[in-house]
Amino acid sequence: MSVSTRVEGPLVCLDIDGTLTDGVNGPPLPGAVEAVRVLRDRWRVRLVTNTTSVPLAALTERLRALDLLDRPEHLYTPLSVARRVLPERGHDRGILIADPGQREDYAWFREDEAGPAVVLATEAHDWRVGDFHPAFRRLLDGAVFYTLTRNRYYRVAGRFRIDLGGVAALLAHCGGVDPETLGKPSPLLFDAIAAHAGVRRQDIVMIGDDAEVDVAASIALGMRGVLVQTGKYRAGDESKAPEAPHATLPDVGAVSAWLARG
Ligand SMILES: [Mg+2]
Repeated sequence: MSVSTRVEGPLVCLDIDGTLTDGVNGPPLPGAVEAVRVLRDRWRVRLVTNTTSVPLAALTERLRALDLLDRPEHLYTPLSVARRVLPERGHDRGILIADPGQREDYAWFREDEAGPAVVLATEAHDWRVGDFHPAFRRLLDGAVFYTLTRNRYYRVAGRFRIDLGGVAALLAHCGGVDPETLGKPSPLLFDAIAAHAGVRRQDIVMIGDDAEVDVAASIALGMRGVLVQTGKYRAGDESKAPEAPHATLPDVGAVSAWLARG
């Protein structure tokens, strides 16, 4: 990917699920498509999702069809980091905890029950606890543990669902090893986004519905964080997170006016 010349103004990073759409593969939230068009007219925009359940090609195609995404390289997922960093570290071999529909994105990972890494890629809603025994035993034996995300839950069609973080917590607790997160809020992810755009990390404004992962964790990394009251947002989230948002806005449609105020 080419590195562009640095330009002034923030790099606007938008979460997808709960910020632009209802569910990562769901319909756009009211006003979201127009809001993204307005933002793109004035600022550089990237989509940054922690989704793990939809293959990258299908996700890219859907977002482009909805005109939420202008160019494929403007979409960042935990996979963006995983397929770059794990081979660099010699950790592209081991146990992959993924569903069949995800595996097309992991052709670069060699499955080997004795390999050095355990990679958690699914919320595992259809798995049984016993299905994690091979991964758990590798962690006990000293394997390196990666999780695509540590999000606690998400909301789709009005209902909350357990996210990857719950499964990561189970394996971390029983295996006695904390995972490294590859998606938001990993500095590996945001530093790549900043480098590709030719900006500094502190030039990024991250906008999302997760007060903890999208907002507080981004602020802790030196970026600006804006919470939208859609998706998984629940009243009071902005005051429970360890870092207060730079703004709490009703939805993504309000972001452009907020940014214009400086
Ligand atoms: Mg979200």
